[in-house]
Amino acid sequence: MRLFKKRPYISLQKVTNDSERAPFVPDGMFVKCPNCKQSIYSKDLGNERICPNCQYAFRISAQERLHLTIDEGTFQEWDEDIVSLDPLNFPGYDEKLKKAQINSGLREAVLTGRAKLNGVDLAIGIMDSNFIMGSMGQAVGEKVTRLFEKAAEKNLPVVLFTASGGARMQEGILSLMQMAKTSAAVKKHSDKGLFYLTILTDPTTGGVTASFAMQGDVILAEPGALIGFAGRRVIEQTIKESVPDDFQSAEKVMEHGFIDKIVPRTELKQVINKLLLMHVVSNSNF
Ligand SMILES: [Zn+2]
Repeated sequence: MRLFKKRPYISLQKVTNDSERAPFVPDGMFVKCPNCKQSIYSKDLGNERICPNCQYAFRISAQERLHLTIDEGTFQEWDEDIVSLDPLNFPGYDEKLKKAQINSGLREAVLTGRAKLNGVDLAIGIMDSNFIMGSMGQAVGEKVTRLFEKAAEKNLPVVLFTASGGARMQEGILSLMQMAKTSAAVKKHSDKGLFYLTILTDPTTGGVTASFAMQGDVILAEPGALIGFAGRRVIEQTIKESVPDDFQSAEKVMEHGFIDKIVPRTELKQVINKLLLMHVVSNSNF
């Protein structure tokens, strides 16, 4: 009987793989802002890499920072031959260093030297979070120390951009000793009446916060930067309480008096220039 005859349906293959259904989006076309969590078309970040929604300043490399900050062609690098050794023969450290050097284009997590900013001479240090999270081992400590020593010798102000996860655990106690060493160099520079400006960028934490990052005569920060000492989990486990979401944001840290001003990246060069001019002029009157 015709009524009960099976109808000739076409069978369709079921699509189970999500990636086959997802629209094609080229890598890097959209980025998620770590501060406001919005997805942003990466071209909208502009050269300065700023979230158009919340003004959060995205992490940038030391080379990009240099390009945004100083007068073109004026940078002379100092101590580029100082690199981390592997003093404790820490497993895997050697390979990690090599990989970081290739990925960041730097030999260590800080770039130091002298340059001009709108014609004003300065000593500059820029930490790069792409290099083992900007951690401070012997080489970073030595380069920062020499930055202050040379600046003191040449009567130059120091402008230092910090970005660090803290001490480099692969160098154990030797990395912790850099906190005292760099602090002593900052003091010698300060004793000569020279100006030291720190700009805290995302993230500035651990041993760098506990030493030279917080010793500037003026301390600026970028919007939305994570600024702290110990990480959230360590604090929560220690005090057995949960802490507010924004407790280590630059904005909150400024409310508590640790930061002088939060400056959007677009205005940073101008603000640094003003501060340098004020202090360089007053130094020449000594
Ligand atoms: Zn944002």
